[in-house]
Amino acid sequence: MHVATEMFPLVKVGGLGDVMGALPGAQRALGADVRILMPGFPALLRGIPNLKVVGGVPNLLGRGEARFLLGKTEGGVPIYLLDCPVLFDRPGGPYDEWGDSHLKFAALAWGAAQLALHGDAAGWRPEVVQCHDWQTGLIPAYLAQEPQPRPRTVMTIHNLAYQGVYPAALLPELWLSPSVFHPEGMEFYGQINFLKAGLAFADRITTVSPTYSREIQSPGSGAGLDGLLTRRRRELTGILNGVDTRVWNPASDPHLEFHYDARHLAVKKVNKNLLQRAVGLDEDAGDPLFVVVSRLAEQKGLDLVLENVAYLIQLSAQLLVLGTGDPVLEAGFRAAAEAHPGRVATVIGYDEGMAHRILAGGDVILVPSRQEPCGLTQLYGLRYGAVPLVRRAGGLADTVVDANAHSLMDSTATGFVFNEPSSWILGETIGRACRLYREEPRAWTQVQRHGMQQNFSWAASARDYLDLYGHMLE
Ligand code: ADP
Repeated sequence: MHVATEMFPLVKVGGLGDVMGALPGAQRALGADVRILMPGFPALLRGIPNLKVVGGVPNLLGRGEARFLLGKTEGGVPIYLLDCPVLFDRPGGPYDEWGDSHLKFAALAWGAAQLALHGDAAGWRPEVVQCHDWQTGLIPAYLAQEPQPRPRTVMTIHNLAYQGVYPAALLPELWLSPSVFHPEGMEFYGQINFLKAGLAFADRITTVSPTYSREIQSPGSGAGLDGLLTRRRRELTGILNGVDTRVWNPASDPHLEFHYDARHLAVKKVNKNLLQRAVGLDEDAGDPLFVVVSRLAEQKGLDLVLENVAYLIQLSAQLLVLGTGDPVLEAGFRAAAEAHPGRVATVIGYDEGMAHRILAGGDVILVPSRQEPCGLTQLYGLRYGAVPLVRRAGGLADTVVDANAHSLMDSTATGFVFNEPSSWILGETIGRACRLYREEPRAWTQVQRHGMQQNFSWAASARDYLDLYGHMLE
């Protein structure tokens, strides 16, 4: 049973939504009885048909009765909703702050632990509970407090930067016993740390790429948890995310008017032209169009892109940014678009269809992240022939092969990779991409084609997770 707070297409903020929209179905296709548990968010209560009551708890963490509803996702995966309107049936996104997020996600975890221990009305009970990110981190702690036999647990880190840290005084309100509050448990410098609870008490830990699983064991990237992660390194695995090829396929994407594949890249130029027109960029076919689709957060390194706007203009390139988040970055990209009409365009907001059209029309997708657990947009870039230009971090390092003399010669290059998170090095790499694009069009096409042929499907990751569960249950 996966427990999570996002699932594409009904609830999505970032990559976690994409993972939950694809992984459970891929695991079921391999024959495992995989199910999902999520909070009863309004979009799920509305979007999942034929929900049936299959159990409940008389008192969910002091907030009264809650019910378990069971339905099926669009892809046919059984999904439980923890229905507790006072906590979950609220307008807005899953992480909007109402002043009680600690309670909201502790309640999710406590409810999940009850379902895991006692099963639903039909007697279904998971053998393994996989917890996704800090919002579900208390599940292994609640289960550790229980004397009876319990299911195995996996804590999956999609992003170590978000941990859920709250004052220790909340312990009794969250029904946490002092027995789990110690430095080897969930205590974090005198406070409660939800993610740490999961990392300390889960039987296994996974994260979403092999490189990130190593990076987070170092003080520079461990966000204060590297000691614990290093101690548990034998139980820590990195399993790369995949691409949902039903959703991300330029040959059938419903968001595109004109479809293409690696053999019909001329059609990509039509998509580029339509995109330029839609966002008010000059309709130049020959100038490379650099694109960004991202949360605007410090971790994504987009300040480095802002610092390169003048250089992109100097190179006669174009820049298109779709994103939302940090107000300073939003203002920065807006100002860049105003200063360079026709050359820089900024779309502030979250727009799934636009994201697809940007990948179809863009020549280069920029992902200069300081930290990147896996990253999905570079994988979408590969599939759509929008050549990824990425920093060598986390999953970006595991999925993109830099176009250097060697890899261009033996045709293994799929993008551009740089090391130092500095605007100067990013600029140099942008320059490299522009040169290949303009001066060696055949090599460029080869890089695009080779990227489009990469196979990052979910089947392999789904198999790896099932193998991991198998080892745990042995
Ligand atoms: P993260 O989970 O850190 O945000 P990922 O690269 O793993 O980063 O996943 C981001 C997902 O969110 C991708 O599916 C990407 O297309 C999508 N996304 C991010 N920002 C936007 C936006 N402004 N509009 C539409 N989709 C977006």
